Amino acid sequence: MALAHPEVPAARRPGRIWTVRVTGHSDRSASVVCSAACRMPARSRDVAALRRFAEAHAAAHAKAATVRGDASCQCRVQQCSAHQGTKVLCGGTVLLVLRHNPAVGRVWTLAEVCERCAPLMTHARVVGRAASRDTAKPPVAPGRAARPQASPRPR
Ligand SMILES: [Zn+2]
Ligand SMILES: [Zn+2]
Ligand SMILES: [Zn+2]
Repeated sequence: MALAHPEVPAARRPGRIWTVRVTGHSDRSASVVCSAACRMPARSRDVAALRRFAEAHAAAHAKAATVRGDASCQCRVQQCSAHQGTKVLCGGTVLLVLRHNPAVGRVWTLAEVCERCAPLMTHARVVGRAASRDTAKPPVAPGRAARPQASPRPR
């Protein structure tokens, strides 16, 4: 997974993305992996508990993240595959969306995307928004000081 932050000449910084995934093993146990290399619970056969942990962990990242108004759309980075068939021109306020497909049930993805992509993305819920100079709305995110449970190290 590309987590590097390349220097971009444009004013926008690359949108961030976190993926929390429950991975099954051949002995019917499972483990949780976070793309931010957070400390995760031990491998376990209690897959339901691991799923609950993964969901809470993704929510903790959502709370801890300060959405950056100059982030580029992470959806576009992935060729807008989250809303295939609907093309949009990215723009507007940067939102933080949490995607979780209940049919798959094992992957939670948190990403900074633009407000035009966000409503089109499947299984996505807006969990944060950048402070916008245009609308002067206060940010939803509680700020940098907030520490999520299980001490993930958000980027
Ligand atoms: Zn994490
Ligand atoms: Zn898109
Ligand atoms: Zn977009």
